[in-house]
Amino acid sequence: MIVTIIMSDDNPSFMVGQEGLKNRGYKSSDVKERLDAVRQLTGAKLEAVTDYSFDPECASKNIENMIGVTQVPLAFAGPVLIKGDYAEGPFLVPMATTEGALVASISRGMSVITAAGGSRVKVFDDMMTRAPVFRVDGIDHSVKVIQWICEHTQDIDDAVASTTSHGRLINIETFPNGRSLHLRFSFQTGDAMGMNMATIASEAVCKLIEENTGAVLVSVSGNMCTDKKPSAINMIMGRGKYVIAEAKIPKDIVEKKLHADVPMIVETNERKNLIGSAMAGSMGYNAHAANMLAAVYIATGQDPAHVVDGSLCMTTCEDVDGDLYISVRMPAIEVGTVGGGTRLPTQSAALEMIDCLGDGKARKFAEIVAVTVLAGELSVLGAQAAGQLGRAHSQLGR
Ligand code: NAP
Repeated sequence: MIVTIIMSDDNPSFMVGQEGLKNRGYKSSDVKERLDAVRQLTGAKLEAVTDYSFDPECASKNIENMIGVTQVPLAFAGPVLIKGDYAEGPFLVPMATTEGALVASISRGMSVITAAGGSRVKVFDDMMTRAPVFRVDGIDHSVKVIQWICEHTQDIDDAVASTTSHGRLINIETFPNGRSLHLRFSFQTGDAMGMNMATIASEAVCKLIEENTGAVLVSVSGNMCTDKKPSAINMIMGRGKYVIAEAKIPKDIVEKKLHADVPMIVETNERKNLIGSAMAGSMGYNAHAANMLAAVYIATGQDPAHVVDGSLCMTTCEDVDGDLYISVRMPAIEVGTVGGGTRLPTQSAALEMIDCLGDGKARKFAEIVAVTVLAGELSVLGAQAAGQLGRAHSQLGR
């Protein structure tokens, strides 16, 4: 059950919870009825939220209690030249944001990267995790459960296969702790971001473990996954796609296009992104990776809460023979090109802009996301090294 708020017995479409879910209509008339009830209860006119292009039925798997839409302006950043294993060539990247100056800044970074010959980018790992926690009797019981798992991998694979055709369990890491046993399952999830897929498959595996070992499942998500929270485990081991993007920018392009020199940018990165982040205890050793992630995720129907994990990004800069080497290490890009919000019409359209809609496109999309973050990092480091950040925001954002 989600939550139970029964505002009126006369208006079944206005109920949330098990009763409401049976009645959560998505016809235009259902949405209108619910909207009218909200207008009546809140006194808000809510005129702007009613003007939209898609049939509410499309959103039936994405939201409950739908009353309209929130519109976010859509733009493109780029073009940016990408040299990935999956994304090859120039791309215009869709971005939905209300933050003035952001798209201009990313486009500037992209133009620098493109002038320098493009960004090399690679997906190093690709796995979605779910980490249930069990109650056990103590050390010996943990050992027994772990042993049972090791001896029944085929049964576990069969349980996963009964829930999904694209999901495959790759490994189970075990973290015993007193009377708790945490297991971290890692799944390949095809082109889906995979969180629903991994959760449903994990539930099937947990049932098997409970039935055969006497361990009691406390939660299918015991927070060692870790989903939508900053965590060292994701920073070190990765979650979703683990991607690195890099570029080498010749000295003259840095000076001409960023109005800063290479040592200034390297120093800004070291004192700000590395030392400053360490002093603050931040897990994001970057300037603003979350900005690029949020704009691309919103445009393309990704789960925006995954910006939290995605922002575990480390930006490095080095002076290599007088030129600027810059890279972003992104261990947790949690994205998909099927399922979730990607099925909504405007989000599908944005994915089509980069030829990333549907089967076989998720890694290509992750490469494009990483290069977009690289471009944003480069531009902001350039602006801060040259002392221009405040000026750009006051010209473009106010
Ligand atoms: P999903 O839409 O729940 O599942 C993906 C579906 O696409 C599956 O039915 C899969 O079929 C099918 N599919 C078709 N072609 C595919 C392909 N090429 N690759 C992979 N799957 C393919 O999406 P999801 O990515 O698992 O979950 C995304 C949603 O999870 C988002 O809406 C997000 O907000 C939500 N979420 C859930 C949790 C949670 O704990 N449940 C946590 C965070 C976010 P098969 O399964 O039969 O292969």
